[in-house]
Amino acid sequence: MIDPGHSAALGSLLRDESRVLNNPQVVERLSRDFYWYSPVLRKQLDGKVGDLVVQPVNVGEVQRLLRYCHAHNLAVTVRGAGTGNYGQAVPLQGGVVLDLSGMDRIEEIQPDGVAVCQPGVRLGTLETEARKSGWELRCYPSTIVKATIGGFLGGGSGGIGSVAHGALRDFKTVRAIEVVTMEAEPRVLRHESDIATDPTWIKRLVTTFEWPIPSFFTPVRQYAPQGEALIFFLIASEQLAALESTVREAGGEVSYSGKYLGVRTIPLLSDYTWNHTTLWALKSDPAYTYLQCGFDPDTVREQMRRLRERFGQEILFHMEFMKNSEGRVIPGAIPLVYYTSEERLNEMIGFCREIGVFVANPHVNNVEGGGRYRADNVQLLAKHRYDPRGLLNPGKMATFQPDAAVAETATTR
Ligand SMILES: Cc1cc2nc3c(=O)[nH]c(=O)nc-3n(C[C@H](O)[C@H](O)[C@H](O)COP(=O)(O)OP(=O)(O)OC[C@H]3O[C@@H](n4cnc5c(N)ncnc54)[C@H](O)[C@@H]3O)c2cc1C
Repeated sequence: MIDPGHSAALGSLLRDESRVLNNPQVVERLSRDFYWYSPVLRKQLDGKVGDLVVQPVNVGEVQRLLRYCHAHNLAVTVRGAGTGNYGQAVPLQGGVVLDLSGMDRIEEIQPDGVAVCQPGVRLGTLETEARKSGWELRCYPSTIVKATIGGFLGGGSGGIGSVAHGALRDFKTVRAIEVVTMEAEPRVLRHESDIATDPTWIKRLVTTFEWPIPSFFTPVRQYAPQGEALIFFLIASEQLAALESTVREAGGEVSYSGKYLGVRTIPLLSDYTWNHTTLWALKSDPAYTYLQCGFDPDTVREQMRRLRERFGQEILFHMEFMKNSEGRVIPGAIPLVYYTSEERLNEMIGFCREIGVFVANPHVNNVEGGGRYRADNVQLLAKHRYDPRGLLNPGKMATFQPDAAVAETATTR
């Protein structure tokens, strides 16, 4: 518990001090994300809350808040919409929750299709705005309606559009990013990437379903004749005729096609894809959880056969196709897993890795364990550069130790 005096002090750094929230229910709600999809994380993270929430609306306020928190050694956990699945937005050591959802201005959508935004802009809002001038997001998560740009960059990977444009980190989708450092004098650092060269701004989603399609997919089942596979596509309307003839040539049929109706809160087609699949399953039976996998395009059938042989219906395949950084379309997957114990879950993860299936483990709460940690330690080096005291989201990087000199000067709360 931090000293209650910090609340008023933090309020004085904002233009409007009512943007410091202390109500315990509100603080609790804004300390949670969707970690509860994992029974393992549920055990670790239930009950973890911040001490208060601050809601800055511009970079100057963020810098002032971080300067104060650095001076008083207060932990800070940044938050967008809190739809992450790894417990990334859950404060492990209390402290301040920095809610950036109020920084929600779209600065501009340039004629060449580059959007310049504050981090709290909701992806759905940006998609709707972009479409007004003929553009669309290259890729977005199935949580498009709620999720923010900052949260997608900080905690997401890809989604709808990734079969054409790869993951968020690929093909220079992110042109530039500004970060505020956690130092005595927080700096704003700008990083730029080169301009992307891919001119095909066509979003595609490819998701496959095969019978038996579980009952919690009722809306999907109505379009899939019993015993046949169903493939979802999301494509540009001018490609529909070509798709239809390809489908006919392959002996299939188009069981439904409809126009894109914009971002809505009622379920979209994309609400039955990516990790929304897990949400429907959990609503039907809370024993379900999930994995995030990448199959080998050359041996995917054999890999699936071996998993089915070993784990039977404990694993339900749900494939999503996406382009990897080398430009090859690979079968990704967010399979559902019927959870019985942590040991069994780890056995499944171990077996996947043994047979060459990549797993980004969504049941761990640190960067190293998630499967995306790089051998050149670039994430750890960045942590030392931007946050040498380790006050940002502490506990989420297992190998991080505060710089020795910095640790000595650390004051108490
Ligand atoms: C049903 C469901 C489906 C999902 N489908 C997908 C999917 O298809 N693809 C996908 O990639 N993800 C998916 N996710 C995960 C998540 O919804 C997305 O990654 C989303 O973009 C996160 O955005 P957010 O604003 O909710 O971030 P938050 O959960 O608020 O934050 C995520 C992380 O980013 C950090 N962060 C937030 N804002 C900033 C900032 N401005 N600066 C620095 N760090 C920041 C937080 O500290 C946290 O570590 C899904 C989740 C659910 C529950």
